[in-house]
Amino acid sequence: MGGAAGLRLGRVEVRLERHAGLRLLGYVRQTVSPRRTRQGVPIPPGLDDRTFKCEHSSMNNINTPSVAPEVVIIGAGVAGLTLATFLTRAGVHCVVLERRDRAYIEQRNRAGVVEARGVDVFERWGLADDLLGGPLAGAIDYRVNGAGRVFDTTLDGRGPSRFCTQQMLVNNLLHQLLDVLDGDVRFEATDVTVSHDDSRPAVTWSDAEGTHATSCTYLVGSDGDRGVSRDAIPDGVLTEYRYDFGYAWLAALVEAPVTGDAIMAVSDHGFVGQLPRGPQRSRYYLQCRLEDTEQDWPDERIWDEIRLRLNDQGIQDAAVVEKFFVPLRSVVRSPMRYRNLFLAGDAAHLVPPASAKGMNLALFDVGVLGEALVAALRDGDTAPLEAYSDTCLSHVWNYQDFATWMTDTMHDAGDPTQHGIFRQMTARARLDQLFSSPTAARLHREYQLGYN
Ligand SMILES: Cc1cc2nc3c(=O)[nH]c(=O)nc-3n(C[C@H](O)[C@H](O)[C@H](O)COP(=O)(O)OP(=O)(O)OC[C@H]3O[C@@H](n4cnc5c(N)ncnc54)[C@H](O)[C@@H]3O)c2cc1C
Repeated sequence: MGGAAGLRLGRVEVRLERHAGLRLLGYVRQTVSPRRTRQGVPIPPGLDDRTFKCEHSSMNNINTPSVAPEVVIIGAGVAGLTLATFLTRAGVHCVVLERRDRAYIEQRNRAGVVEARGVDVFERWGLADDLLGGPLAGAIDYRVNGAGRVFDTTLDGRGPSRFCTQQMLVNNLLHQLLDVLDGDVRFEATDVTVSHDDSRPAVTWSDAEGTHATSCTYLVGSDGDRGVSRDAIPDGVLTEYRYDFGYAWLAALVEAPVTGDAIMAVSDHGFVGQLPRGPQRSRYYLQCRLEDTEQDWPDERIWDEIRLRLNDQGIQDAAVVEKFFVPLRSVVRSPMRYRNLFLAGDAAHLVPPASAKGMNLALFDVGVLGEALVAALRDGDTAPLEAYSDTCLSHVWNYQDFATWMTDTMHDAGDPTQHGIFRQMTARARLDQLFSSPTAARLHREYQLGYN
């Protein structure tokens, strides 16, 4: 580690070691055990005088935490759980509210690769070995009408990306946060409401035990594209930038592993990709119409189209264990902050899955936010928090550009009925440059690894 990031993190390490006993990069764990809440969450020094004054007297069963959390995180997806793990490890008192039960979020499977920059973040927090399983991800097989060329995504001086399904990462985070760190996640928390009336945000929610309320110093909305935290921001504060690509993907999880490298295949009959999803399974993505439904895609058609688009009649049918449709679109909401509410992950932005960057952008956000919250809460240094939205949006726009490049290239180069033969030829030329131009190849590697 070196350079600006190392220096900046160096400052955080010292802070964390002094105030919270965080073990980062070999630093020594604090020997004094922190006081803990009823749920076992470490209570940082100097916070026991912060009792929450409930303003919602109409509620019949208000379970008021004796110590208001410093941070409330809405949503226990990959963004919320990663942030909660970082903060709890740093001794910051945080509570996560999740509307689903634990079993549901443990089995939800989407992304498959943690890019190299994301691996770096987990390494800086001393968590990479505990959280990231799976082999190294170092190549993509780009095919055109069946002819493959393997693109090496590794860069000298940079670590590789890691295959780690989102499901595996979420399971490892839950284990780390709940079983190792005694963190506080409230599953099946329904009817979450957020208010910004006072200088401190307030949150209410319900569960089997009744209705609960608390204030907090900072609130994080990591509740995905359809959560409640963004809706609590007054009209006119956020600007939404949106682009719809005009087609969809059928995502089919199958009982057949990828045998070589991950495949991204252009074809005159439409795009198909095959990405690893663990040792026994893979997910195929097939370009389809926005209006397509499961009735349009029985299993036999899925396998026929895979063979056609990969130009390989030798591919055998296997069980299709899950199918769903994803419209390809890009969305950015700006700024990613309102007062003391910070948006992270899909709550703030969406990228089309052709880029494989949605989870990785969420990890970028919470890496920045975790350090910024610790700086604000432990040193009173709010500058990183003030810069949070700009820091993340600059990265997000770079990756919206990359996602548009990937999506346009992989689809325009294929079926010409969408955008015509001229666009097909320019898209194929763009793809060829990855293998003929060291400059184009280098930029593509940087994007694949997450360093732009
Ligand atoms: C088919 C598909 C393939 C993908 N492939 C990739 C890939 O290869 N690489 C990649 O990097 N990304 C990929 N992504 C994107 C990635 O899955 C998302 O970007 C990622 O899940 C975002 O994480 P998040 O924590 O922001 O949101 P989520 O994972 O959506 O988590 C949000 C959480 O908030 C909870 N929640 C929602 N509303 C409320 C509420 N009102 N109260 C309390 N809790 C609430 C939800 O239950 C959920 O647990 C893919 C996505 C799809 C759909």
